[in-house]
Amino acid sequence: ADIFDVSRTTAINAYRCLEQEGWIKTRVGSGTYVERHAVANSGATSDIPWTELFAAAPPSAMSTILRDLVSARMDRDNISLAAGMADPATFPIESMKSLMEQHMDQMERSDFGHIPTEGYEPLRHSLVKHLAEKGIKATADQVMTFAGSQNGLYLLARVMLEPGDYVVVEAPTFIGAIQVFQGAGARILTLPVGEVMSLPLLEDYLIRYRPKFLYINPTFHNPTGRVMTEQERVDLLELAARYRLVIVEDDAYGELHFGEKPPLSMKARDGYGGVIYLNTFSKILFPGLRMGYVAAAPTLISRLALEKQYIDLHTSNVSQWLLHLYLESDELPSHLVKVRKEYKHRRDVMAKALRRYAGEQLTFHVPDGGFYLWCQIEGDVHSRDLLHEAIKSGVSFVPGGVFYTTPVGEKEFRLCFTTHPEEVLQEGARRLGDTLRRMASG
Ligand code: PMP
Repeated sequence: ADIFDVSRTTAINAYRCLEQEGWIKTRVGSGTYVERHAVANSGATSDIPWTELFAAAPPSAMSTILRDLVSARMDRDNISLAAGMADPATFPIESMKSLMEQHMDQMERSDFGHIPTEGYEPLRHSLVKHLAEKGIKATADQVMTFAGSQNGLYLLARVMLEPGDYVVVEAPTFIGAIQVFQGAGARILTLPVGEVMSLPLLEDYLIRYRPKFLYINPTFHNPTGRVMTEQERVDLLELAARYRLVIVEDDAYGELHFGEKPPLSMKARDGYGGVIYLNTFSKILFPGLRMGYVAAAPTLISRLALEKQYIDLHTSNVSQWLLHLYLESDELPSHLVKVRKEYKHRRDVMAKALRRYAGEQLTFHVPDGGFYLWCQIEGDVHSRDLLHEAIKSGVSFVPGGVFYTTPVGEKEFRLCFTTHPEEVLQEGARRLGDTLRRMASG
C-alpha cells in the first residue's frame, strides 16, 4: 500500500474533526480518550459510515496548504495576497444594479423558467461581438456559457479525458486546471515556463504519448505573469496544426494589460480549428457573477452541453441577463481602462515595497499585466515554511509548489497585487519582508 507523509496540521485537524463529531474527548493535562458513543443525534453526528460510501476521491497534494490559507483568510488582521481576486471596490455594482432594475420591469414571468443549457441566447450573441473585438471570429453556436470558467474546465475534462489519458500543461500552471485534470485521472506532462516554450519537448510528447490536449495560459500567465511572444504563438500553432493537437487556451487575464496590447490570442490565429478558447468575467468584473464561456467547434459545444445538462441544466438566468445587459450597455471598455490603470499602479507599489522590504531576499520579474508577482526566494528558506511564519505575522500568499504536479517550486511563491489598496499592499510587503529576514537570520 502507498504510505503518505501526513503533516502535523493534518493530524491536529483530524483530531479536531473527531472531537467535534463526538468520537473522542480531550481532557487538558490528561490526554485524548475515545468516547463510547457519539453524542446522540446532535445533527453533526450520524451512524452512517459516510466516508466508506464516498467514491474514490481524486488525489490532492494541497489539502493542508489550502486549509492554512482558508483559516488565514478568516482572520481579519490577515492581509491575504493569496487569492487571485479583483478589488471589490472596482466591481461595477452601481451600473449593474440600475441595468437590472430596468430589465426586471420588462421581464415576462416565463423568462424566469429554464433556458438552453448552452446559454442565454442574447448573451451568446453579445459574446460573439465581444469576441470579434478581440479578433476572434465565432458564431453563436460556437459559444457556450458556464458558471465560471472552472465549470468549463471541469466539463472539458469530463468530455475529453479518460483515466490514463495524457494532457500537457505548463509548469507552473493554474491550480484549478491541475486539480480538474488529475481528478479525471489524466497523466500530466509538463512544459517548463521559461524564456520560450520548448517546442522540441512538446513534439517529443506528441510523438510518444499522443496527449488529448495542451492547456496553456499564454497571456499574463497564472502564476508567472509571462506572455508568449508573437513568434512563439505562430510556431506553436504551426506545430499543433501539423500534429492536429488540440490547444485549450485559457485567457482569463488577457485584457488586463498595463501597457501595449499583448499579441493576438491563439484562437484569433487558429487556422486548423483546434483551439478551444476559454475565458471568464471573474477577473475583469467579479468572481461572484460566475460567468465563464468557451468558443469552440459546434460538435464540442453540443457534447459539453450534454454533460452540463447532467450537472446543473444551465447556468443561472440572472447572471446571464446581468452580463448580457452589461455587455450591451457598452460600459466594459471604460471599466477596463479604469482597472488597468489602477492595477498598474498597484503592481508598481507592490514591486517597490518588495524591493524596499525584501530586496535582498527576493527576486521577481515585473509583469506587464494580470494579477500576480511570481517571486523567487534567495537563500535557504522554503516557501511553505515561509507561509507558515508569514501567517503568524498577518500576511499570506500561495507557495509555489501547488502550481506544479511534481515536488518542485519550494523556493517560489505567488503574490496577488490587485485585491488591496496601496497602503495595505505596502503593509503586506513589510510583514513579508520582516518574516523573511527573521527566517534568513535564524
Ligand atoms: N483560469 C485561470 C487561469 C484562473 O486564474 C482562474 C481563476 N483563478 C480561472 C480560470 C477560474 O475562474 P472562474 O472559475 O472564476 O471563472
